Amino acid sequence: MAASVALAPGVALLSVAHGRPAEQGVDDSVRWGLLVDSNKCAAGCDLCVTACHTENGIGKVHGQETDTQWIRKVQLTDKATGRVSSLPMMCQHCESPPCVDVCPTGASFKRADGIVLVDKHICIGCRYCMMACPYKARSFIHEELHEQSPDVPRGKGTVESCTLCVHKIDRGDGITACADACAKAGYKAIIFGDLKDPDSEISKQLLAYPSKQIRQDFNLNTGVRYKGI
Ligand code: SF4
Ligand code: SF4
Repeated sequence: MAASVALAPGVALLSVAHGRPAEQGVDDSVRWGLLVDSNKCAAGCDLCVTACHTENGIGKVHGQETDTQWIRKVQLTDKATGRVSSLPMMCQHCESPPCVDVCPTGASFKRADGIVLVDKHICIGCRYCMMACPYKARSFIHEELHEQSPDVPRGKGTVESCTLCVHKIDRGDGITACADACAKAGYKAIIFGDLKDPDSEISKQLLAYPSKQIRQDFNLNTGVRYKGI
């Protein structure tokens, strides 16, 4: 149960019965991440993309599809075996994020709990972070936005990327929209959780099975890991 108090248009103070109280800051006792199992990810399924769009108010502008995608489906083909893997790509929530390093204003930042975000009030739209991100995870908002989600304020002329559904995590939902949609469809290809908690499902899976970071050679220690690739 959550109650919100409007302070100004688009700004709300959220008090929560479950999860982290609004006045309590995040700390580094947790590190949020995702584990994607490409063996369970169905080719042609884009439920995670649709759920992300719905949750975060991304979609059509004046009836036209936008090219904004915080999460996208990609196919990988193993050249040796011909095996095709299907997997969702999003911001990898790097521990050492190049997008943060290059940002001249401090708009691009990493929270203590590992979630990498853009403060749209400080972002000047220079797009340095888009060039620095090796995962092509960020996009620029070209158009005026209407009918935004009050939980996810966005702004023309700024850059954005997957927030790990930070508004849901901060109110204690314990799951991202993409992982939730995938689980409800029965695939369970995306697990969200605390990488620092040895008892979390994500940590147990990472311990029990081999996993990879995409472009591990960049040494960014990504918060998003993949199985089956
Ligand atoms: Fe930044 Fe890109 Fe890493 Fe996300 S994936 S933290 S946008 S460098
Ligand atoms: Fe920082 Fe915004 Fe420039 Fe990205 S576009 S580097 S977030 S000021």
